[in-house]
Formats: sequence, structure tokens, C-alpha cells
Amino acid sequence: MSKGSLFIISGPSGTGKGTVCEKLIENENIFLSVSATTRNKRLGETDGVTYFYTDVDSFKNMIQNGQMLEYAIYNGNYYGTPKKAVEDMLEHGKNVILEIEPQGALKVKKLMPEAVMIFVLPPSISELRNRLTQRGRENSEEIEKRIAAAKWEISQSPKYNFVIINDDLARCVGETLEIIKSTNKKQQLIESLLKEI
Ligand code: 5GP
Repeated sequence: MSKGSLFIISGPSGTGKGTVCEKLIENENIFLSVSATTRNKRLGETDGVTYFYTDVDSFKNMIQNGQMLEYAIYNGNYYGTPKKAVEDMLEHGKNVILEIEPQGALKVKKLMPEAVMIFVLPPSISELRNRLTQRGRENSEEIEKRIAAAKWEISQSPKYNFVIINDDLARCVGETLEIIKSTNKKQQLIESLLKEI
């Protein structure tokens, strides 16, 4: 069985990347890695599904025990990708998506250069602010912190393999799906070419 492919999806908070990922995993053989975080669980989120919620000491233990593929601090909270689940999914030929911010994304790219990095841009900052306000998950102070973080995040987008604008959800999902499918096709071709030689 061929090994699966790894995709990293980043973008400022409120850009809609979470919704894009939700749509992507409705497709066959596309799976989302569940991250660990020290941030508080929000209404509507489920432990083990949205995130694995943990405290700082347990998180640091996981880092020390080599259980994290990557981790980063975002707005004062730790976020990280548990390594084993990702490795297992790749071993079973699955397409795996990491929905993570750019510090962690760049660490993964160094470790696994074959990872395909996709950055989702909002159409404008006013639209980003609207979306953050409308979804009502964060208070206005937290929203401003997230907008401030967006400046550095957007500046990292040229380092990604693909940059997609989320001004239309269906198109954005379609473009991302095309990237996944064409990556799979190329991977299969490479494997079959190498077998022929
Ligand atoms: P939120 O608090 O909105 O769920 O996530 C905040 C930011 O952390 C988002 O940009 C999200 O993509 C990022 N994030 C979520 N999980 C991880 C992770 O495992 N590693 C890294 N580096 N960032 C993550």
C-alpha cells in the first residue's frame, strides 16, 4: 500500500479554514489530525474531537516524551500535533490534514519536506473582523489579539506551496480538493514510474 500524503492548512483565525477542513473530510480518505491544546474548551467543542484539552504540565510532558510532531504557542496557549496518530494514518495510506498555524507548519515542513502547505487568505481584514465578530466565540479583546496575530501569519503565506482566497466557500473547498487529488495522482505516478525502472 502506498503511504498517505500530508497536507497543512493554515490561515488567520476567522478565515474559514475550519469550515473548509470540515467539508474536506466529508470526502473519502481525507482525515483531520486532532491537536492537543491548553486553551479552554469553548461551547460546542468536544474533547477528543475538536481538540484534546490538557493542562500546561501534561502538554510539556508530551513534548518531553517526544509525542508531539510540532507545537507552538498562539495567544498564550499551547497547541500541538500528536505524532503517533498522524504517523499511523499516513502508514495506512490516508490523506492527513493538519489545521495548524504557521510556526508549527514550518516546523513540520522541515521534518517532512513532502508535506503540501496550503494557506487560506481572507478577502479583506474588515471581512476577517466581521467573521470573528459574527461567530461570537471570542470577546472583543481576544478578537483584536487574533487580528494582530493575523499580520505575521499572512506575512508567512508566500512560504506555502499554495495560497487560496476564501471569498467563496465552495470554490475554496473545490480548489483545495483539487490540490489533494492532484498530489495523490502525482504520487501514484512517481511510484509506478520508479517500479518500472
Ligand atoms: P483556535 O483557538 O481558534 O482553535 O486555534 C488557534 C490557532 O491555533 C489556529 O490558527 C489553529 O489553526 C492553530 N492550531 C490548532 N491546532 C494546532 C496545532 O496542533 N499546532 C499548531 N502549531 N497550531 C494549531
